[in-house]
Amino acid sequence: NMAYDINNIFAKILRGEVPCEVINEDEHTLSFADINPQAPVHILVIPKGAFTDWSDFVSRANPEEIVAFTKAISRVADLTGISETGYRVISNVGVDSHQEVPHLHMHVLGGTAIGPLVTVKG
Ligand code: AMP
Repeated sequence: NMAYDINNIFAKILRGEVPCEVINEDEHTLSFADINPQAPVHILVIPKGAFTDWSDFVSRANPEEIVAFTKAISRVADLTGISETGYRVISNVGVDSHQEVPHLHMHVLGGTAIGPLVTVKG
């Protein structure tokens, strides 16, 4: 398991040290536009707590944080208008996934037909 790095870019966004385009915010979550969008709509949903990835979050977050995070994902889909047309939710965990930022984030992608899930094969 990775240690949480308090100087990762999303920690800086949460502290207001780095700007972002906010889509939604509540007590436990922040959602903002991805700086390098891979689809017409590409939002990142993050918990405000210091969690490295999904596994870390599920093992340490309290139920209120888990509910808030889960709901925030569909909330941003509603806010950006992609609930009707469809969207994909992806979270990279650890080395094999190519996770680059060590603060849990869900990618919410949509706004066009985005094709098959992944290109790697078993
Ligand atoms: P991952 O590879 O799953 O860790 O995804 C990290 C994502 O964070 C990438 O899609 C980046 O484009 C995005 N990203 C990195 N820095 C920023 C930033 N300052 N603001 C918004 N998105 C960012």
